[in-house]
Amino acid sequence: MVELTAMDLLNLSDILNQYPNYRTKQIKKALFIDLIENWMNASTLPLDLRKKLNEACPLSINGEPFESSDKNTIKAIITLKDMIRIESVLMKSRDGRNTVCVSSQAGCMFNCSFCATGKLGFKRNLEVFEIIEQVIFFARLLKKENEKITNIVFMGMGEPFLNYDNLLNAIRLLNDKDGFNLGARHFSVSTVGIPEGIKKFANENLQVNLAISLHAPTDELRSKIIPINKKYPISEIISCVDDYILKTNRRVMFEYVMIKDLNDSNECAVKLADLMKKNLYFVNLISYNPTERTLQSSSGEKIKRFKEILEEEGITVTQRYRFGERLNAACGQLVYGEEKISNEA
Ligand code: SAH
Repeated sequence: MVELTAMDLLNLSDILNQYPNYRTKQIKKALFIDLIENWMNASTLPLDLRKKLNEACPLSINGEPFESSDKNTIKAIITLKDMIRIESVLMKSRDGRNTVCVSSQAGCMFNCSFCATGKLGFKRNLEVFEIIEQVIFFARLLKKENEKITNIVFMGMGEPFLNYDNLLNAIRLLNDKDGFNLGARHFSVSTVGIPEGIKKFANENLQVNLAISLHAPTDELRSKIIPINKKYPISEIISCVDDYILKTNRRVMFEYVMIKDLNDSNECAVKLADLMKKNLYFVNLISYNPTERTLQSSSGEKIKRFKEILEEEGITVTQRYRFGERLNAACGQLVYGEEKISNEA
């Protein structure tokens, strides 16, 4: 059974305003470092404040974890106050990195043909603390194993740049030295390519990584799989990215999901190489995680050839490791289907 209290920190700053500043530091430590699950455990705070906080700002997270058989991926389904459910994923790499893939919206408005989240439609933007609680959920789990989150990627449900202010506030809070203290370079935001978002992001003076979901080298093809491309064509995205690089001097990753016979031809590789021949651009090839009966992942051979063509043209290419396939926790597979979960269990 799902409890009715869910994490809610909306009132936290109002309460803190009534107390001296040093309390804020103690609260941040309790919440983000000690990772307390009940304010009663915040032993540095006076009892009346702990009681008040327990009433007004509950810390319990309604999250259910599902672990993959190799134990490298944990998907969490988190139920929010209004009973809407979102998903987040923890990926443990062999090199010791613990990356959390965070949702920024419940559902998504874009309905890209290869992504399961879009099929849900759009529900609502997530609050700052609803973004943060996904991270805290996994930080609490990892703490039990004496481990920590090392990276956060905004590649879960939704479009981060359509929830811009909450996204940025969540990043700032998680980056805060007195709290969670995760370095800006350890965050990545992936966008379908919202020009206003990229422009604002360029001016934030933050060292957070930017990734663009490109997936096709021409507008004709991209519009077929990413309908919003009709509104924001490739040339407009590229021009915003170029300005971003001029301002920040930071690398930008272009994600390219490899879908069989759709965007994986040698011709596509050559066209993509032409687009990508720029300083600080690099391509991340992602093998398609099946979400649609009509689409299949490109073969390993095909991906290898595609990569070679790009590299022959001097493009830097990385390849994404596949996590959480059997859990339906891989990129674009985030939909809270009970069936899918019970299949795995
Ligand atoms: N809306 C944002 C972030 C969410 S998607 C964006 O578009 O970038 C995060 C990444 O997963 C994107 O690159 C997205 O295109 C990719 N993705 C979506 N569905 C996928 C699938 N079925 N297989 C592999 N990658 C997928």
